[in-house]
Amino acid sequence: MTERLYLLDSMLSAFDAVVTGCEPYKDGYLVELDRSAFFPNKGGQPCDVGTLGSAKVLDVNEQGERLLHFCDRELPVGTAVHGELDFARRFDIMQQHTGEHLLSYCAWHLFGAQNVGFHCALTYATLDLDKPVGHEGITEIEILANRLAAENAAVTATIYETEEDLKGIPLRKHAEGLTAPIRIVTIEGSDACTCCAPHVRKTGEIGQLKIVEAIPYKGGTRCTFLCGMRALRHAQQMQDTVSAIALRFSTSREQAEAAVQKQAEELSNTKRELRQAYAALDEYLAKSLIAEAEDLKGTKLIVKTLESVDAKRLRPLAGATMTDRALTVLFSGVGDRVFYLLASNGIKADMGMLIAAVNTALSGSGGGRGTLAQGSAKKPSDLKETVEGLHTYFKNVLLHG
Ligand SMILES: [Zn+2]
Repeated sequence: MTERLYLLDSMLSAFDAVVTGCEPYKDGYLVELDRSAFFPNKGGQPCDVGTLGSAKVLDVNEQGERLLHFCDRELPVGTAVHGELDFARRFDIMQQHTGEHLLSYCAWHLFGAQNVGFHCALTYATLDLDKPVGHEGITEIEILANRLAAENAAVTATIYETEEDLKGIPLRKHAEGLTAPIRIVTIEGSDACTCCAPHVRKTGEIGQLKIVEAIPYKGGTRCTFLCGMRALRHAQQMQDTVSAIALRFSTSREQAEAAVQKQAEELSNTKRELRQAYAALDEYLAKSLIAEAEDLKGTKLIVKTLESVDAKRLRPLAGATMTDRALTVLFSGVGDRVFYLLASNGIKADMGMLIAAVNTALSGSGGGRGTLAQGSAKKPSDLKETVEGLHTYFKNVLLHG
């Protein structure tokens, strides 16, 4: 069995060991050691990576009692190796993990909310609380956690050999199913809970703790948080983003939100005015379409391409031409697609049938039934000629049925 060096010294970044097992696995080897400082994928967080001699350690997993280092090359059993961790990665994960302890303690201390889930990725970490906490609650948790971090309290791990030894220790959380010996991680003056992972030595090493998102999750709250350099990088990105917005609006960062709000209101007003203007324009346009309509055995036929009218306006426009027995076919050619709409009033032909001819002529797709059908196609270079051909087709439909 491998001696787990990380359990008692989380700052150990290099060690010497002897290879006790090595077997081929996928495109590498699973290597076992007599002792190791490599922490495996466990407890919702990613493993350590690094090197064993000339071999790269790409992944570390537990299999029962075994600690398996997935390496890119073979290390013969009996070889003495020098192991080195990617300690920047390890330290970053320890900051997030110890931050999780502190945030969990604060949520529990302030609101009685229990930590029911933790996941640490390489760019963010999440903590699930079993209660809704709310925006102000999140702010309180953050403030207390950062205050406790600044107190630079000692973080210590102690292994208790019997259940009896555990009695009297006020634990925030006792993971279910654990039996002695049990490792308790204590933050001096505040938290104590069971845990198997490496932690920073003092809360000050966590750096800043920032909850960047809190959303309702399974009746409680899922908090996404960042600690240490991750929190700093996030702050830098947010500052850059707000600065870019402020520059865009020629205002200060403090006034940026008000400027965005003002523009949103202006945009909303402009859209309303535009809708009103289009309605007036389309009323006029409909009158001109009706005036141009051909009379084919008592049915008004309108076939028209409206280059500057977008697809949304086709339906009310066609609707406005349905004053008599009518067939109206409109094409909208805004952009690189053509949209078409067929509407009828008081005639036998079904629009679901007639649109098939348009789909075929334009290699488009669309459908409908009864008095209305619509579709779209990639805009062809010969749209004008194609529409002329369809115009003739619709004339024949009305003249000859
Ligand atoms: Zn822990």
